[in-house]
Amino acid sequence: MRPFAYDRAETTALAARHPTAQGQTDAKVQFLAGGTTLLDLMKLDVLRPERVVDITPLKARHSGIEVGPDGLRLGGLAAMAAVADHPAVKRDYPAIAEALQLAASPQLRNMATLGGNVLQRTRCPYYRDPSWAACNKRTPGSGCAAIGGFNRQHAVLGVSERCIAQYPGDFAVALAALDAEVELVGPGGARRISILDLHTGSDRPHIEHSLRPGEVIVGFRVPAAPWARRSTYLKIRDRQSYEFAIASAAVALDLDGGVVRHARIGLGGMAYKPWRAKAAEAALVGKPLTEDTATAAARLALEGAVGHGHNDYKVELGRRTVVRALLAASATEV
Ligand SMILES: Cc1cc2nc3c(=O)[nH]c(=O)nc-3n(C[C@H](O)[C@H](O)[C@H](O)COP(=O)(O)OP(=O)(O)OC[C@H]3O[C@@H](n4cnc5c(N)ncnc54)[C@H](O)[C@@H]3O)c2cc1C
Ligand code: SF4
Repeated sequence: MRPFAYDRAETTALAARHPTAQGQTDAKVQFLAGGTTLLDLMKLDVLRPERVVDITPLKARHSGIEVGPDGLRLGGLAAMAAVADHPAVKRDYPAIAEALQLAASPQLRNMATLGGNVLQRTRCPYYRDPSWAACNKRTPGSGCAAIGGFNRQHAVLGVSERCIAQYPGDFAVALAALDAEVELVGPGGARRISILDLHTGSDRPHIEHSLRPGEVIVGFRVPAAPWARRSTYLKIRDRQSYEFAIASAAVALDLDGGVVRHARIGLGGMAYKPWRAKAAEAALVGKPLTEDTATAAARLALEGAVGHGHNDYKVELGRRTVVRALLAASATEV
């Protein structure tokens, strides 16, 4: 690991003094929360920050879990495990609790924070190994070793000829399905953005998210909605535990006697960023939730998917994942 300067930020105002340039993968200043992404990538020499700003003191103010009539509010520095195990989150927002429970390992879930989780980096092996020169995410303009290389885990939705990396997280997919917002505090004050606007697209792979310099994620808001209780997160992976998704779906349904009033579908494991399948949702409205209507919706959800050889299987796997998740959500007792 390369030498770096270390600071501790006791408040968001002190954290915001650091010009993190966070949108960029190679930012010279990085916040340290649980460290389970950051330190990994520093040891691999992928991230080379000159300054690491420890924001763990912010946990005292920003790790709450509140469930109220307006919805769910989660502190940006809450531990993944605390949210996954929270009885009211499990009851009222099961997709959120399940997405966190199925992520990583107990040790990691205890250590890692929600803010760090949504900003985790891709698991693309070429990104994580600097001996591969061609990686537009690490080195803009250098090419993409995964296109034409080994790309079994890579994305089929939202990709470009510049990058086909998969967004590996689970929690942000559930947030995307449930219309969540991200609360930010930075040098310009506080603001909220949709979770769908947090991650940026594959046309500029070295820019990963839309945080402004110095901004800290202090919370997440999930609105109360009639579909939140009938929500679920289905994660498909190569082994049953301690593994990233190769396909996942967060689904939420508001049903009127078996007929869909509202549907929400988020996709993970197969897209460049947490993905919303809005055309599939619209196609379900006013129809009974059956295997046929779920299959038609799943086809729409994967419309435009592009495989690059080894990952072609994800198109059909993604469709089946959506069908299974929809049928599971419709069968849930609420
Ligand atoms: C072996 C392994 C398996 C895993 N499996 C899964 C899995 O199945 N599913 C899954 O979803 N994840 C998985 N993960 C990823 C893990 O969940 C993330 O590493 C973790 O959530 C990151 O949180 P952290 O607090 O440790 O972030 P850190 O490593 O501290 O930070 C990550 C990044 O986010 C920035 N950051 C952190 N907090 C904030 C904030 N509040 N505001 C602004 N910027 C911030 C940091 O600057 C850094 O760039 C796995 C990780 C490992 C090592
Ligand atoms: S898929 Fe993206 S992260 Fe992976 S090698 Fe290509 S440019 Fe780099």
